[in-house]
Amino acid sequence: MLSYYSKMLHLTNTLTKKKEDFVPLSKDEVKIYHCGPTVYWNQHIGNMRGMLMGDLLRRSLIYLGYNVRYVRNYTDFGHLTSDADEGEDKMEKAAKREQLDPQKIADKYIKQFEEDTEALNILDPTVKARATNYLEEMIDMVSILLEKGFAYETPKAIYFDVSKFKDYTALSGQNLELNQVGAGTGTVSDPDKRNPQDFALWFFKTGPHKNALQYWPSPFKSSEVENGYGFPGWHIECSAMVRKELGKSIDIHYGGVEHVPVHHTNEIAQSESANGVRFVNYWLHNEHLNLNDKKIAKSDGNFILLSEITKKGYDPMYLRYLFLQSHYRSKQNFTWEALDSAKNAYIKLVNTANSWGDKQGVLIEQAINDFKEALEDDINIPAALAVVWEMVKSDHEEADKLATLLDFDKVLGLKLQEHIIAKRNESKELDPEIIELIKKREQARENMDWQEADKIRARLKDEFGYSIVDAK
Ligand SMILES: [Zn+2]
Repeated sequence: MLSYYSKMLHLTNTLTKKKEDFVPLSKDEVKIYHCGPTVYWNQHIGNMRGMLMGDLLRRSLIYLGYNVRYVRNYTDFGHLTSDADEGEDKMEKAAKREQLDPQKIADKYIKQFEEDTEALNILDPTVKARATNYLEEMIDMVSILLEKGFAYETPKAIYFDVSKFKDYTALSGQNLELNQVGAGTGTVSDPDKRNPQDFALWFFKTGPHKNALQYWPSPFKSSEVENGYGFPGWHIECSAMVRKELGKSIDIHYGGVEHVPVHHTNEIAQSESANGVRFVNYWLHNEHLNLNDKKIAKSDGNFILLSEITKKGYDPMYLRYLFLQSHYRSKQNFTWEALDSAKNAYIKLVNTANSWGDKQGVLIEQAINDFKEALEDDINIPAALAVVWEMVKSDHEEADKLATLLDFDKVLGLKLQEHIIAKRNESKELDPEIIELIKKREQARENMDWQEADKIRARLKDEFGYSIVDAK
């Protein structure tokens, strides 16, 4: 049981379009699912902002006293170039481009993604669900939908019949007759599809997917392939991973706003039809990052990677600070000028905190309450940041301000302690103990005792705030 949890938290729910009281399903744990990346390419800073917004939600809930189980997935197959069941599988397209096995592509881009999330101080999820590890659950869920009559087989695919699910447009509010997002205009490839909006739960290895590189046997029947060979659709992946890792009903489903009309709409239809219970209580969606006032788009080269930012000498924390300045439900615009002013604010914060010395202080209650109040208002991080600066400029004891600032950083995630220590050490002479450790590490390296060398490196970082870089 929780000793304390906020009863004042309000979240804006995309489903009701209202700011609602947050009431968790269980007092023991809040269950959150975040739609993660399809790992076929580098993730640009717009994608990273979405991940960071999820991190802020999670950190805020923890700060407010909740235990959080946070699941984020990796899609490593089945996501077609159009969200509406058309085109090529993104993973396989990348496999051809780079002449690598699709799973090698996934490994490569998961590694890159995780380097970026770590650099941005995004906490590791409780579970990182890689779609290929959940095939059994996906097949099981499709079988249930067939049994219950929500799905049907054609020789090309198994589809979800949207006419069987009466609240299909509840999340998006779209009018199906007028707006056929999710319909898939490429229906010519399957004349047996009943409604244009029906979406695939399983693609058989035939027709446009005859040469699929990633496919598995299934209990499903097609006159065109043996053993039901094929692969699950992208939407059923998330439904199955949610059910396996979090259960039939969850508290919060998080994701980018682009997922509302198709992906999340379909997740609700599948999960509620298969499980017979409400799927998600609160749907939260983050708005997009623009680049120089234009939509970020890979296809026309209007995108930036984190590595381009760090190569120019910016600490990833400057970007994190920039992202803290706008609310998750608001669009944000990236410019180099905006990054420079975020950098200046960050440095000012660190320098100010450094000037406060290192005496032990106590938390400033009023500031903590104001900070929590901002979080409770739909995770209003920009308002929380305003509380931070108000506290920094206040005339409280400096030691208390430092203690409070470091407490806020549990949510902000700006690695303030590390940067304050680094700043302090800049002006300090090297401690004889540090010199001794560096010598020992050199010796260990000469003896090729990498384990010992790494251990000393970690000690230097943790105890003294020094990072060792080995130059050639
Ligand atoms: Zn998803």
